[in-house]
Amino acid sequence: MHPLNHGLTGLAILVLCEKFVSDFYSRSLFWIVFAVLFSMIPDLDSVWKPALIRDHHKSMFHAPLFWLGLGSSIMLIEILIFNQVFGMGFLFTLFTLAHLVCDYVTAREAGIAWLYPFKKKEYSLFPMRPELGDFDFIRSPWHVRKAYYKFYFSNPTLVAFEILVPLASVIIFFV
Ligand SMILES: [Zn+2]
Repeated sequence: MHPLNHGLTGLAILVLCEKFVSDFYSRSLFWIVFAVLFSMIPDLDSVWKPALIRDHHKSMFHAPLFWLGLGSSIMLIEILIFNQVFGMGFLFTLFTLAHLVCDYVTAREAGIAWLYPFKKKEYSLFPMRPELGDFDFIRSPWHVRKAYYKFYFSNPTLVAFEILVPLASVIIFFV
């Protein structure tokens, strides 16, 4: 999923948490920035890794166990200090794991290795073609990317997910 769409999806998660989990959360600027930032943060690995696009999920940043461990630790600290379960740690865990679920659904050239670093096999909802991600996403010219985009947009369900989920998130946020 596109990083920006991850950020927008975070807005819907924030609203759902505000309504159904705890009134500790709100649509204030603080929580909006928190939601967008931590919904996008796993994609940081594509910035510093000079790797091919097909390899950009091969890092701790796209490993569920990493975010689960970090989020649980923050939650534990919040429980011990503030006697509070639903704080920053809960949302942090939710946003980062939701990112990975969205990447699993929209995976085309790189999937999610659910047990990384213990098991490196990547999984995806739809069949992947990693060979089409055999280019540098930031530096490659358009003609190199073309085959990848053609493949990406050949799946209408996936395209609908990529467009409708962020769009629905924005609508939910403003309703
Ligand atoms: Zn990602």
